[in-house]
Amino acid sequence: MKVLILGVNGFIGSHLSERILRDTDWEVYGMDLGKDKIGAVLGNERFRYVEGDIAINKEWIEYHIKKCDVVLPLVAIATPKTYVENPLGVFELDFEENLRIIRQCVKYHKRVIFPSTSEVYAMCGDERFDEYGSKLVLGPINKERWIYSCSKQLLDRVIWAYGQRGDLDFTLIRPFNWIGPRLDSLETAKEGSSRVVTQFIASLVYNEPIVLVDGGLQSRSFTYIDDGIDAVMKIIDNAGGRATGQIFNLGNPENNCTIKDLAHRLLDMFVHHSAYAAYNRHPEIIVQSASSFYGESYQDIQTRVPSIENARKLLGWKPKVGLDDALRFTLDSFLREIGWRDARIGAQG
Ligand code: UDP
Repeated sequence: MKVLILGVNGFIGSHLSERILRDTDWEVYGMDLGKDKIGAVLGNERFRYVEGDIAINKEWIEYHIKKCDVVLPLVAIATPKTYVENPLGVFELDFEENLRIIRQCVKYHKRVIFPSTSEVYAMCGDERFDEYGSKLVLGPINKERWIYSCSKQLLDRVIWAYGQRGDLDFTLIRPFNWIGPRLDSLETAKEGSSRVVTQFIASLVYNEPIVLVDGGLQSRSFTYIDDGIDAVMKIIDNAGGRATGQIFNLGNPENNCTIKDLAHRLLDMFVHHSAYAAYNRHPEIIVQSASSFYGESYQDIQTRVPSIENARKLLGWKPKVGLDDALRFTLDSFLREIGWRDARIGAQG
């Protein structure tokens, strides 16, 4: 099988490539702006990488959609800070550029696995979000945060409509706060534009206070990347066509915790970590209002817990990694990465 991954150097793309090359005989064709996260697979003869931008290198993409069996268009902006700072950029990349790719999948009869998002449920009040039952509840237009949710939702609907007309073999996946090594980068976290786990780890290592937005009583269901990738592998494999035309929430309801609890767990792990002594840090946790942290056009989501019945029933999937292990693996990987970088800097100078 030939798998095309656009955004191959991203958090999901890089982990997925490693898994495919480790566990299958499939070939991966990947495009991205850079290659810093895919060092482990670059030398593999079943991995072809090209540096490129999906908004520019359109011919390469069309040629490879024709050539491959399944397409994963993973290129998207997925950090809330960017939704409020650059809403049009989010629409253009997440919706417009991806729509072109979806249409080419229709044209060439190629299977697409599209990353929808748990954000589509937005402020839904359900205890657990259900793919086919829950309402998708967005805030008003002046709350620009919702442009991401809205862009993804519209593309979900477009894909669904093509599927209903028999013109597209698709699966929609909805990751719920996946975390793990290579989630964002500590550099973007320095500017305050990473997702919460990377943001908190960066605060710990750079000796900045951890900020609990509005007190941190909102919660998320954090899901370890390896569990998410297990599900995506089953979906690509698509035994018995069971993933075709389906939407899957991919999250870990057992790992639901408040942001405040998350901050305390990470802080505690950091101060008890074997690398901690080298940092000489005295981490603190502070509270800041959402409007001063993100700006007036932000609006938060209070709870986000998936129902994963559909993935369990059709894919035989369930997540295995508990919250503390997921956080520990993620923290370890960032501390190792910084250790290597510091060692290199030390060696140079
Ligand atoms: N958050 C926080 N401090 C930070 C970054 C985020 O309290 O430094 C909160 C944010 O308001 C949200 C939650 O953490 O309620 C998760 O944010 P994230 O950026 O990971 O994305 P989301 O889950 O909202 O898509």
